[in-house]
Amino acid sequence: MKILVTGGAGYIGSHTCVEAIKAGHEVVVFDNLSNSSPESLNRVEKITGVRPRLIEADLLDRAAVKAAFDEQKYDAVIHFAGLKAVGESVAKPWMYYNNNLVSSLVLFDEMRAHGVFDLVFSSSATVYGDPDKVPLAEDAPLSALNPYGRTKLWIEDMLRDISAADPRWHIILLRYFNPVGAHESGLIGEDPGGIPNNLMPYITQVAVGKLKELTVFGNDYPTRDGTCIRDYIHVCDLAEGHISALNAIDKMPGCIPINLGTGDGFTVLELVHAFEKATGKPLPHKIGPRRPGDSPASYADASRAEKLLGWKTKRGVNEICRDAWNWQSKNPNGYK
Ligand code: NAD
Ligand code: UDP
Repeated sequence: MKILVTGGAGYIGSHTCVEAIKAGHEVVVFDNLSNSSPESLNRVEKITGVRPRLIEADLLDRAAVKAAFDEQKYDAVIHFAGLKAVGESVAKPWMYYNNNLVSSLVLFDEMRAHGVFDLVFSSSATVYGDPDKVPLAEDAPLSALNPYGRTKLWIEDMLRDISAADPRWHIILLRYFNPVGAHESGLIGEDPGGIPNNLMPYITQVAVGKLKELTVFGNDYPTRDGTCIRDYIHVCDLAEGHISALNAIDKMPGCIPINLGTGDGFTVLELVHAFEKATGKPLPHKIGPRRPGDSPASYADASRAEKLLGWKTKRGVNEICRDAWNWQSKNPNGYK
């Protein structure tokens, strides 16, 4: 297949480019590099032998999006591009609605105008809001806790309406749980700018000596050790999930949400201890107050992905920690 990958230079996008190329697909990346480096694509080439073409442009630039579709006929689009920092979205909601929502509308409109109706969209478990019960199946109630989450929920809503109005669309909404880890080569991985907000990059930066210690946000939750539970999924498993979605999309008309998670939850302290085991050294950490807005537990019911896509995760927490550490220790400053 010929696939346009928006946001393909980013963390999940670059891993998906690797898996797509390995599966024999041709990928073209559309990315404005606002949160990524073109070096990630050089590394994709090192791993696969193929350098995906980069269209360096903004999805808000309709002429550039139109030109991309005028140039060649794509079989499908994987839409990763977007801003993803929850705290920043609270401080700058306008920026999030513009960059994530408006750009998505431009993309979907140009897809339609060019007769491209197969779409895999990066959604998130954030659309489940603060869940009442876990594991989370796709029919759980949806809500948003912040502007970032609202952009995911509204894009999902938009896509449900778009597909209801026109039966030519085949749309898969992939709801990611917590993507972590890196390609086993250590050549590509997560490269957050500034101080990371997320747990795994924070842990790896403490381990490599860039940050002093991890603060565990709260140990008084109603969980087995008092710290929050999340479903950490290896980014290569996640990337493979996208290839399975492309393989299945032909026989899936309409718009269907599918969780990509392991189905297992780990507490913050369990992840810290698994990481210590993988590196063979203690990870400095202390207990701090809760972070506002955190749910005690979130993990997937991953059965729909297995049933509809024939996909399930292959890698566990040990591989996650090993590969995250391999990437961080080989690239202490990311791609810089
Ligand atoms: P990332 O920031 O590494 O990648 C996103 C890419 O999109 C970047 O390369 C960025 O430069 C590009 N981009 C942003 N706005 C753009 C625009 N207007 N035009 C063109 N390119 C643009 O993020 P990621 O972690 O790889 O996430 C990919 C997608 O998955 C995002 O939509 C994110 O919301 C979603 N997601 C991520 C997580 C996670 O924890 N990483 C969890 C759930 C969902
Ligand atoms: N967390 C933490 N310290 C940190 C960052 C995160 O204890 O420095 C906790 C956080 O409270 C949550 C879990 O780690 O329970 C995962 O947080 P992350 O931000 O990675 O993902 P999300 O909360 O979006 O699922």
